[in-house]
Amino acid sequence: MVKSVVIVGGGTSGWMTASYLRAAFGDRIDVTLVESKNVPTIGVGEATFSTIRHFFNYLGLDEREWMPECQATYKLAIRFENWRSQGHHFYHPFERLRAVNGFPLTDWWLNERPSGRFDKDCFVIASLCDANRSPRYLSGALFEQDFTEGGAERGYRTTLTEQDTQFPYAYHFDAALLARYLTRYGTDRGVRHVLDDVVSVNLDERGWISDVVTKEHGALAGDLFIDCTGFRGMLLNKALSVPFMSYQDTLPNDRAVALRVPVNMAERGIRPCTTATAQEAGWIWTIPLFGRVGTGYVYASDYCTPDEAERTLREFVGPAADDLEANHIRMRIGRSESSWVNNCVAIGLSSGFVEPLESTGIFFIQNAVEQLVKHFPSERWDDRLRQSYNRQVANVMDGVREFLVLHYHAAARADNDYWKDATTRQVPDGLAERLEQWQVKLPDSETVFPHYHGFEPYSYTAMLLGLGGLPVQAPPALRLFDGAAASRELRIVRDQSRELVGRLPSQYEYFARLHDLP
Ligand code: FAD
Repeated sequence: MVKSVVIVGGGTSGWMTASYLRAAFGDRIDVTLVESKNVPTIGVGEATFSTIRHFFNYLGLDEREWMPECQATYKLAIRFENWRSQGHHFYHPFERLRAVNGFPLTDWWLNERPSGRFDKDCFVIASLCDANRSPRYLSGALFEQDFTEGGAERGYRTTLTEQDTQFPYAYHFDAALLARYLTRYGTDRGVRHVLDDVVSVNLDERGWISDVVTKEHGALAGDLFIDCTGFRGMLLNKALSVPFMSYQDTLPNDRAVALRVPVNMAERGIRPCTTATAQEAGWIWTIPLFGRVGTGYVYASDYCTPDEAERTLREFVGPAADDLEANHIRMRIGRSESSWVNNCVAIGLSSGFVEPLESTGIFFIQNAVEQLVKHFPSERWDDRLRQSYNRQVANVMDGVREFLVLHYHAAARADNDYWKDATTRQVPDGLAERLEQWQVKLPDSETVFPHYHGFEPYSYTAMLLGLGGLPVQAPPALRLFDGAAASRELRIVRDQSRELVGRLPSQYEYFARLHDLP
């Protein structure tokens, strides 16, 4: 029987895992979490993915309660600045594409281009972001998404193409505050919390972990051990010697420097999106929380030194950065060959990581804990469960890697060696063929990475159209159609966007109300 779980590490991954296991299994499983007082957490990880709401739902947490405690805000999209050329921006929104007569609206857009901006013409969220709107009214109601119906009443025919919407937002939050919130959640529900350093890991004669030895609390024994020790990979990579497979040949950014910048939100407003601004040797993230902005430069050390990167970041932020201490971070890009070996599962940075361009770190954690619950060996160990888990977790990370490589490969920017090399660098197996394919027909479910990895074809389409470095075309068949229904739908998007911008409160107004500010 697998009855007791020992989690080593108390960052976002450790506490998300501990909370989720208790929410899933209650006291049928004992959970102990040991975290060091001396080894800090990574200290970043503030933007998420729209599926994160399932995590909070699972735990029974209401966003009106946890968001104010974690300085959280809404994120409707990622805004990409300067990836095509200086001054250009576009959004990758959390919004599926409408389809008219079986063709995604972007296919029609390529012929018509009403405003010249595919994101504003095809998605309402782009306008909400440009206008700093909240996706919720002051009453708490979510903005209307009546555009999901489509079909006869709009004068077009539907096909098997999925028309469902996707949930329109994710969150920005302070990761340390969230870890603290989840600490309370977990310990209130029986997680045993040990503050101590693990100094060694003992293996039995089969090579399975028997216990971890702490400085002050002796040995902690368990059935299943979860390695949440971050880039150290203390249990999986070190004690069990599981190899780490680097992605760096295809994704060269290996460092980051970060700042936490206090800002006056009432004056500045709160953008409901993460911004990724392209730079000489990478890109800078800007994540607006309630009361401060998290920002950082992700760069490739082959093209830029840490001093140059810090200077660039400080110049980008301006005088507000003057007295702030910068956090320099080395990133291990790639994944462990297997995330679950014997009785040890790595979750979080110890399992794998890609640069945070699409905010996938916490999504990887959520995916891993959900899969762990689905594959949990309650009665006895079964190698087939482990294999299935490892396959699923690896596919998610390999798929996200492909999607990120597309960001660099398809960017029109080519003003220095970094950006020129980005388009000629080798791409992961399979992507080269897909890139060829997408130039004659925008991505669909048959032509993107074939396993679940969180991203749908509309995301690939948004990136191809926004980045502008690869030629794309409308399907030739559209010339044989009457385009009236598509023109009408493009006008509907414009009208809905305008109405919503007029009706919804600003994101600042919404959160000022939630925080009881005057
Ligand atoms: P850590 O935060 O490193 O925690 C490790 C834990 O292990 C700590 O509690 C430490 O005390 C403990 N520990 C280590 N050694 C010992 C020991 N010997 N004994 C006891 N305890 C020990 N993700 C997103 O989803 N969105 C983002 O926007 C995003 N941005 C990122 C930006 C950067 C630059 C980086 C590097 C990552 C980013 N991530 C992002 C990823 C995200 O930060 C991580 O996925 C998340 O914080 C989980 O980290 P972790 O818990 O695995 O590791």
